[in-house]
Amino acid sequence: MFTEELPKRADIVIIGCGVVGCAIARELSKFNLSVVAIEKEPDVGWGVTKGNVGMVHPFVPQFGKLKSKMVIEGNKKFDEVAYELDIPFHRFGLLIVALLFLQFLALIFAFFYLKLRGIKIKWLRRGRLRELEPLISRKAKAAIFVPSAGETDPVKLTIAYAENAVKNGVKIVLNTRVTGFEIENNEVKAVITDKGKIETRFVINAAGLYSDEIEKLVGISDRKMWHGKGVMLLFDPFIGDMYHHFIAPMPIRLDPRTKGGIIGLTVDGVPIWGPNLVEAKDKLDVGVSRDDIEMIIQKFKPLLRFFPDKWIMKYYAGVRPIDETSWDFVLGPTNIRGFINAAYILSPGLTASQVIAEKIVDILRSEGLQLVPKEDFYPYRKDIKSIRGLNYEELDKLIYENEMYGNIICACNQVTEAEIREAIRRGARTIDSIKFRTNACKGRCQGSRCLHKIIEIMADELGIDISKITVKGESSEIFVED
Ligand SMILES: Cc1cc2nc3c(=O)[nH]c(=O)nc-3n(C[C@H](O)[C@H](O)[C@H](O)COP(=O)(O)OP(=O)(O)OC[C@H]3O[C@@H](n4cnc5c(N)ncnc54)[C@H](O)[C@@H]3O)c2cc1C
Repeated sequence: MFTEELPKRADIVIIGCGVVGCAIARELSKFNLSVVAIEKEPDVGWGVTKGNVGMVHPFVPQFGKLKSKMVIEGNKKFDEVAYELDIPFHRFGLLIVALLFLQFLALIFAFFYLKLRGIKIKWLRRGRLRELEPLISRKAKAAIFVPSAGETDPVKLTIAYAENAVKNGVKIVLNTRVTGFEIENNEVKAVITDKGKIETRFVINAAGLYSDEIEKLVGISDRKMWHGKGVMLLFDPFIGDMYHHFIAPMPIRLDPRTKGGIIGLTVDGVPIWGPNLVEAKDKLDVGVSRDDIEMIIQKFKPLLRFFPDKWIMKYYAGVRPIDETSWDFVLGPTNIRGFINAAYILSPGLTASQVIAEKIVDILRSEGLQLVPKEDFYPYRKDIKSIRGLNYEELDKLIYENEMYGNIICACNQVTEAEIREAIRRGARTIDSIKFRTNACKGRCQGSRCLHKIIEIMADELGIDISKITVKGESSEIFVED
């Protein structure tokens, strides 16, 4: 599936295999081109993408910005992307709720403003709101309902883009870091990596949090990156049934830097709250403080009549790469011929990923690249078959075809041996790679009951000793040899 061998030449080199790099790789695989995507990590989607909430936003309030146009288009395209790539996607819908009188006034204004912008919305009176969300705060006066807000799994989407790109001829080279460029007469000639050099005419900078450093390697230094940390709280799945939509408080004053976070649900129905926005110390600052947790609980708790907020199962943080001046995506050619930015992709880059990819194709065309459509492009990809949601008859049939579907490894999320082995066959080489592909270790026990079984299956399937199994690549071994 993926490789660690760097080809000598390619028409286009993509730097970074996050959701944006992989979406671009897939879009380019529709044409007769040789495309190579390079990723420093042992798997795709481990950068900013991994720290995502997974919300497929209906809009962002900063309507003049490129990100705002792209998010609206991206949201519309999501059903088709999810269908072709067989990824989980649910349109839960968003409720923007007014609890205070001032919020109520702002909500009226927002309603007409959004209508004017062509966003499909409905006004919900208190009674209807309570019917939809019985646990909504008694103070709730009204809400705007935005039915198109959806949820997906960010890493699964990235893996799906990548798998379909590979199926259509793209080479995805993992564990390989871009360290420099060969530039002649202000034009890209080659990309230098820690595994050697690859000659090319076009480079796409999709390096997420490191897109500023990649720019510096070609001599561009006129932008400054601001690192915006966002913390998320995941709650015990048993309280997942307490609400059924995304819920957000109506902001009285808009902060141009953030959409403000939400009370949400993952695609598996696990309550997720956040993110907030604080300045990170640096790119690697994913620490979560008590203040972060308090800030999120204080902001969202008043929206519900009751919520067991002490049942936090997990918290984590992600860092957004933000262009300090524009606070927008940086897309387009640069003064180095052949070096194209798909850079500083802050939120909602996941929602916009397909549209960004299409835009990059247009940019390449206008930069003189000949794009001949591939007649045999195959748009579909199937996810690893899971037993979740099957009835007894379907389950019986599956186990009859492959008895490993009868061996449950992760009891919390009902993940079987067959799924773990299939994930390995599709390229998973670390525990985290298995986790992101199958949902094993992501349930209530966070792996304490299944990790040892997964290690044994990995050792068996890959024919290696368990001491070689890592959580996330080099220096994260689980066992130490005597
Ligand atoms: C807290 C948080 C919540 C978010 N929630 C949402 C949401 O709900 N909805 C939404 O639409 N968006 C959301 N976003 C935004 C979204 O996650 C990003 O816009 C998107 O993931 C950016 O993807 P990317 O591919 O540009 O970057 P990345 O995912 O960071 O990918 C870049 C890749 O480049 C690789 N790389 C870097 N340097 C090199 C190098 N030198 N050589 C080789 N490889 C390199 C990295 O390892 C990385 O894998 C959120 C972001 C954060 C931080």
